[in-house]
Amino acid sequence: MALQFDTSLEPHYGIAERLSPRIARLLAPNPGPFTFRGTGVHIVGAGDRVAVIDPGPDLPEHVAALKRALDGRSVSHILITHTHKDHSPAAQPLKEWSGAKTYGFGPHAETNDVEEGGDRLFVPDIRVADGDEIAGEDFSIACVFTPGHTSNHMCYALAGEKALFTGDHVMGWSTSVIAPPDGNMGDYLRSLEKLIARDDAILYPTHGSPIAPPAPFLRALVTHRRMREGQIAACLAQGDDTAPVLVARLYAGLAPMLVKAAELTVLAHLEHMMEDGKVTRDGARYRPIVKAP
Ligand SMILES: [Zn+2]
Repeated sequence: MALQFDTSLEPHYGIAERLSPRIARLLAPNPGPFTFRGTGVHIVGAGDRVAVIDPGPDLPEHVAALKRALDGRSVSHILITHTHKDHSPAAQPLKEWSGAKTYGFGPHAETNDVEEGGDRLFVPDIRVADGDEIAGEDFSIACVFTPGHTSNHMCYALAGEKALFTGDHVMGWSTSVIAPPDGNMGDYLRSLEKLIARDDAILYPTHGSPIAPPAPFLRALVTHRRMREGQIAACLAQGDDTAPVLVARLYAGLAPMLVKAAELTVLAHLEHMMEDGKVTRDGARYRPIVKAP
């Protein structure tokens, strides 16, 4: 299957939309080149005590809308997929207001100046690891560690619905930015394979529409990255030897504000190719390693 993105999501800001009997999504009013229509905040649970996954940006009107969307229910858990500024900052006001504890793999590791940037203030109250189970009033959520987009990225699986909240690891509307040093292409590809080996019925990304069934889309994402690596290898063989030159060659017509992100993604590919022994680096210049037949 060719990689096909769904960009049909219609934004309805300020009002939570029900996606399943136990899942609702509130869209934050922060659309942009990396966030698509905005951050999709997921509210999990059909009872009086719910979990909030990625409360989103700390914008006063958004935090007020989130409180309204909770509609008198209390918050038992605040789960964070990763520490980009469009995901975790509203955890602090939500925590102060609700008294709920925050959960995540850990604080942000390194700062990148692309995408929405790192939230260096967030530190989870409870650090979770791969396989940990979080029990709520009428839901159970398993932690699925998926480094790559960031080194602290965690997906969350809702038992009973075969639903996986994928944060920015898998998005329906675009590929994920993999920006070194915190982003790592090898980790990202391994984390995609990890999801392919699962039997989730539906993925709920933070940005864009749900993805079902997941497997063909996940395989297409892996194929897309392999194709991109093949293109980079072909360019290197022809003498293109720096990330900016490769971006100009491979991403013709790219919007200027996305060039830096594309450059970092190409660097992530080059690092991954170095790990695999396919490429060598001299300063900012890269050369293919030609193996003897
Ligand atoms: Zn992100």
